[in-house]
Amino acid sequence: MEQDEFRREARQWLTENFPAALTGVSGLVFQGDARAAAANADYQLWRARMADKGWGVPTWAKRFGGAELTDEQARIIAQELAAIGAFNPIRSYGTMMLGPTLLEYGTEEQKLEHLPWIATHERRWCQGFSEPGAGSDLASLQMKCTDEGDHWLVSGQKIWTSGADEADWCFALVRTDTSRKQGGISFLLIDMRSPGIEARPIVLISGSTHFCEVFFNDVKVPKGNLVGEVNGGWPIAKRLLQFERGSLSEVKTEIIPLAEIARRYVGSDDQGRIADGDLRTRLTHNAMRYAAYMQTVRRFNEEARNGTAGNGVSVLKNLWSGIIQDRAELLTEVMGADGLGWSGEDYPPEAREATRALLHSKCFSIYGGSYEVQNNITAKRALGLPDS
Ligand SMILES: Cc1cc2nc3c(=O)[nH]c(=O)nc-3n(C[C@H](O)[C@H](O)[C@H](O)COP(=O)(O)OP(=O)(O)OC[C@H]3O[C@@H](n4cnc5c(N)ncnc54)[C@H](O)[C@@H]3O)c2cc1C
Repeated sequence: MEQDEFRREARQWLTENFPAALTGVSGLVFQGDARAAAANADYQLWRARMADKGWGVPTWAKRFGGAELTDEQARIIAQELAAIGAFNPIRSYGTMMLGPTLLEYGTEEQKLEHLPWIATHERRWCQGFSEPGAGSDLASLQMKCTDEGDHWLVSGQKIWTSGADEADWCFALVRTDTSRKQGGISFLLIDMRSPGIEARPIVLISGSTHFCEVFFNDVKVPKGNLVGEVNGGWPIAKRLLQFERGSLSEVKTEIIPLAEIARRYVGSDDQGRIADGDLRTRLTHNAMRYAAYMQTVRRFNEEARNGTAGNGVSVLKNLWSGIIQDRAELLTEVMGADGLGWSGEDYPPEAREATRALLHSKCFSIYGGSYEVQNNITAKRALGLPDS
């Protein structure tokens, strides 16, 4: 009953405060592009309203910018956002990865310094984990960090760092001891405006410049920016990766109305069904996988609340990647020749977007740990299978 009341209040507040012009727009547009976010007045208004309400990070303490709500209430907000075609404008690497990690491992001073800025989305973060020689085998990372008495000195290179060219801060893994692998890694917070940092954008196959290679050349970092103990960064990194994989497989808003587009391009038969029987079967199969996935997420969340969840996040991440990639391929197929559009007026905008979405979908099974690596984690940690 209490939850019903909260749902009514949430629905009313969201309906009154969400700018109608943003209805149906994917929040990822603003999450991945600081310039687009800064230039859009509706987005800025929405961000400010949600930040004031503390609903971008509803379960966080009020002193950190949250609203001190329960997990159940947070879920209701997410559902009501989806129901009106809205998105959480605060969602970012800060809320999905660093915030939850700092809540567990940060000092009170570090939490107060960073969490309120994450809760308003006024400080953008990037993730400095991968290096040219350290992707799946992340613990091979080499970026050097030495103790210079009153500060840390950092030198080395990161790669595939999403949003590094627009980020204010970076949470990075650095090597503080070369004699041990996992045991020589520390977790450091680095101000991206520090002298000695250069972020060079890399163009992706989809045409976007989502990520960068980042060079650190004798960068001075204050002593207080170390999270946890020196050489104690590995367990913190693993925890953060769990948060990352969990957030990548959260219940999503249904963004592409695939069946509706199919009907438009392929037409309907005399019973009002999508005219192509084979395509219809495959669309239905994908929709069923999507529905089953949503149920699995719900079950997983229930188990997490009861403290009985296993290492299911890796399973969810792989399921979600597969569903999204299939949907992108189906969409391109549905559009026929239009689905090959890349640029120019000969193709409708939705077709050009579909092509880019298809190419972009390839990265879902790479970032946050590749498909094979997630299966390894499931095999070892969830199923207890031996290494080989
Ligand atoms: C769009 C995008 C955004 C990204 N953003 C970030 C970011 O912000 N910050 C960051 O730090 N990193 C980021 N990454 C990097 C990402 O985490 C790595 O690409 C990923 O971990 C894989 O590492 P790799 O590219 O070095 O591939 P590799 O580790 O070289 O893997 C190559 C292939 O070998 C397979 N493989 C490797 N090891 C095993 C194994 N033990 N068993 C079976 N198969 C294996 C992999 O599955 C893969 O198919 C991003 C990547 C992408 C695509």
